[in-house]
This record gives sequence, C-alpha cells and structure tokens, in this order.
Amino acid sequence: MARLIFITGGVVSSLGKGLASAALGALLQARGYRVRLRKLDPYLNVDPGTMSPFQHGEVYVTDDGAETDLDLGHYERFTGVPSAQSDNVTSGRIYQRVIERERRGEYLGRTVQVIPHVTDLIKEFVIAGTDDIDFLLCEIGGTVGDIEGLPFFEAIRQLGNDLGHRNTCFVHLTLVPYIETAGELKTKPTQHSVKELRSIGIQPDILLCRSHYPIPEEDRRKIALFCNVSPACVIPGLDLSTIYEAPMRFHEQGLDTQVLKTFGIDDAPLPDLSHWQWVVERVKNPEGEVKIAVVGKYMQVKDSYKSLSEALTHGGIANNVQVHMEWIDSEIFERDDAASFLEDVDGILVPGGFGERGTEGKIRAVRFAREHNVPFFGICYGLHMAVIEGARDLAGLEGAGTTENGHPRHPVIALMTEWTKGNQLEVRQEGGGLGGTMRLGQYPAVLATGSRVAEIYGGLEIVERHRHRYEVNVGYLRQLAEHGFVVSGWSPDGRLPEIMEISDHPWFIGVQFHPELKSRPFLPHPLFASFIAAAVRQSRLV
Ligand code: GLN
Repeated sequence: MARLIFITGGVVSSLGKGLASAALGALLQARGYRVRLRKLDPYLNVDPGTMSPFQHGEVYVTDDGAETDLDLGHYERFTGVPSAQSDNVTSGRIYQRVIERERRGEYLGRTVQVIPHVTDLIKEFVIAGTDDIDFLLCEIGGTVGDIEGLPFFEAIRQLGNDLGHRNTCFVHLTLVPYIETAGELKTKPTQHSVKELRSIGIQPDILLCRSHYPIPEEDRRKIALFCNVSPACVIPGLDLSTIYEAPMRFHEQGLDTQVLKTFGIDDAPLPDLSHWQWVVERVKNPEGEVKIAVVGKYMQVKDSYKSLSEALTHGGIANNVQVHMEWIDSEIFERDDAASFLEDVDGILVPGGFGERGTEGKIRAVRFAREHNVPFFGICYGLHMAVIEGARDLAGLEGAGTTENGHPRHPVIALMTEWTKGNQLEVRQEGGGLGGTMRLGQYPAVLATGSRVAEIYGGLEIVERHRHRYEVNVGYLRQLAEHGFVVSGWSPDGRLPEIMEISDHPWFIGVQFHPELKSRPFLPHPLFASFIAAAVRQSRLV
C-alpha cells in the first residue's frame, strides 16, 4: 500500500491548499515516485455537478465521467496523472452509501453511527486502489474546526494510528498574516489552528505557512516551539507570480525533503525540475502578448473557468507569449455594440455554459469574430452558439436556436436521446433529472482528413472529455456546409458532430468537448496552442 500524506488547512479558506498539494505531488514525482492525489470534500452535495459555478467554481470532469472538485484539475495539471471518480468524495456521497447499506440491512441491526460507520467508509475510500503507487496525497476540503469536516479529520486521525507514523504524514497549511499597523507578521493564528488540530488528535508533521512576506528565522522557531514541530518543518509559502513556480520554491524551502524525512527516507534522488524550470522561464519571459476576449456568463468568479484560463496560459507557453484575458459578460453585447469591446482583441473564445441568459450576446460575439476574421474558439455551449449564429446568418434560418432554451423554430441544437459508447447503446430521456443525464467523460472522435483540426492534432483519432446534454442537430448540417461551416470531427459511430470549422476564416473552430480539461503547462493542448498561434498572427495584423 502507498504511504499517505494528508493535507489539511487552517485559519482561513482559499490559501491554495489544492495548489500546494498538487505542487508537493509534482515534487515527489520529480524525484521518481509514483503519486496520486485525492480530495475529501465535507459538503453534503453528492458531487459538485449540480452546484452553481458562482458557488463552487468550475466542475472538473474526469476521463471516467465524474463531476469533481476543481482541485482535481490542479492535480492533473501539476502531475499529468489523470484523475478518476475514485479521487474525489463528498460527505454527501459517503452518507448516501451508509444510508443505502443501512436500508439493505447490511449493518445487521446495529445502531449506525458517524464513528465507526461513516469514518470506516471514508478510510476505505482513502486507501482504495493505492497498491501501485508510492505516495497518496489526500487533501481535506475546508478548514479545521468546520463541523461538517469532523468525520474526515477523525478518519485520517485513525488512519495515522492504524498505519503508524512511518507510513503517514500530516501537512497543515496556515496563514501568517502581516499586521500593517504593528508592522509585524503574526504567528498566533497558526498556533490556534494547530491547537484546534491537536485537540482532535492530529499532530501535524509539517506546517506550510502562507505569507506575503518572508518569515524571519525567529518567527519560524516560535511557530515550531508552540506547534510542536521542528523548525525545519515550518515551511514558508510566499506569494508567487505564477503558480507553476510552486514546485521549485517549495523544494528550495525543503518541503519535499522534510516530508520524505517523516517517512524515514533520507536517501531519495534529488528532484528533476527541468520541465518546471522551462515552464516558469516561458511564463516569466514572454516575447509578446496577445489579448483574448472570453465571452461568457460566470465572469465574477474566475474559478468558474479555472481550467480554461490555465489552458489559455498553456497556449501562451507554447507560443512564448503572455495571454492577456479579458473576461466579458456576454449580456453587455445585448445592450451595447460588441465592436467597441472586441475591436482590439486578437482572439475570441466563447466557453461552456448553461441556460438562456446571455446567449444572444454570445451569438453577437461569434458574429463579430466570423465577420471580422478574428480567431474564434467555441467550446461546448460556445459551439452551440456558433451553430446558431451560422444557421441564422449564413443559412438564413430565422429563429434558429437550442431546445435547451425552449422550442425554437429551427432546433439546430437539440437533445439526442441515443448514442453509442464503444459497443454499448447509451440512452438519455427528455425531462430526465438533472443529475446523471449528461454525456460525461471521455469519448473518442474521428477527424476529417485534410481538415484544420486534423492538422492541429497531427492525427485523425482523438479522445476528449465531455459534459453536456445537447448536440448539434445533424438535420441542419447540409445547410451550414453549403456556407462553408462543416463538421470536421465525428463520434466514431458517425452520429454526433464533435467539431465544426469554417476553413475560409483565419481560425474558426467549435468543439463539443472540453479540451481545456486535458491541457498541461508542460504539454499545452494542441487546440489552445494553435488558437494562440492564430491570435499571435492576428496581433501582427492590427
Ligand atoms: N448547456 C449545454 C448542454 O448542456 C452546453 C454545456 C457546456 O457547455 N458544458 O449541452
């Protein structure tokens, strides 16, 4: 079984626990270890699939079709290890299982309790399928002291006991704030947070202390003394100009060395951080800049499009330029002329989304891109908007729309009730419940020979991740093709259009899937690399 590293948080949320976990995973991987990352989320939703992006940020979809926490996106981007349903669990799912078991009579008449029944299930989940890896990094959502997080903390405390100290390591992330009026860094919140952790039986081995300013040696010693750890295990986590610097900075501060020491490992090979050096070098020293307008709906919460903004950054890394993103709420175009906002951008991207609000504005953004020869990238709902725009303006189908938003005269986007996955027929029902009716997870697609996407991918077979209910209606394809808007990628059974493009345009591609989920800083997704390359060409024109 793998050695277990638990990452907990204290003081406040949003300190970057997911990123810190991902960076530690990347560091251990760079030393040659096989790692996997998991997240325990204390909220009661069964998964984040039905939560609003305003509440929860992006829903990250895995290859096996799980709708998960966005931290799994960080894990994948930092380690390149694809995550799965088994890497994210919520209190809701745990309780659901316990109650199902109880209803089936599996507890044999015993009183069902948080300890041991809920905690046992959590422990089962944490260690499942970890035989072929060296380290499992398990992040606990929320902060220590939250009521709903208690069963998770209790479960990892028990695991620490069950497996012994040489097989488990507890990393606690805290904040060391700077008090302007006193001109001092304050260690008390960290002391209190560790006290809280120790009161539930967990003694942290490593403290990761987020801070705006370097933490003086004296403060590190003080934290160590009060929190019962060695001074070398008080690791400062300073703000960084790019998140991809985290593995290198943490290594300099000794994070991976100290973690390995807690397992009694002090002869591990040094990490090979060359690919991180390359990424950081590129991000910090770009040779130019491009401006991309992202026209969507959930603009106030940047985390709603986390993978997308990262994938655009990766596209910049591929082209050695900085990608400046302008987040524009599409509803603006329903009041004001799109031109004034889009005139000076080098590319326009309409991302995934749901519901009617803002759709007419997105359609206007597509029209601007098409008519003004600005590189256009439509992702999922963005493809739908492009098809509606093309149907209305190119093919003259007035009233073209999506059945997602009512009963349009020309349902160019509609619900497909059947499709095949491999040899299996999959069916979904009109009016079915919201959870579990989507085409989710990875599906293969076949690209058209000679298409732009075939050239971009450098092959004809691709596999990408999906998260949607509606599809391009094949009944309207002929009318669109007559105007040069063609399907260039199909599902292997030839039933579902997966990619559409206009070849007589500098770069106009819409995809039914979410390529942003599979982009990595050291391996930018080909579509994002190509889109940004087109934006670079565009920037030279203006
Ligand atoms: N709302 C659309 C659908 O359900 C698109 C979803 C998305 O963009 N992820 O099909």
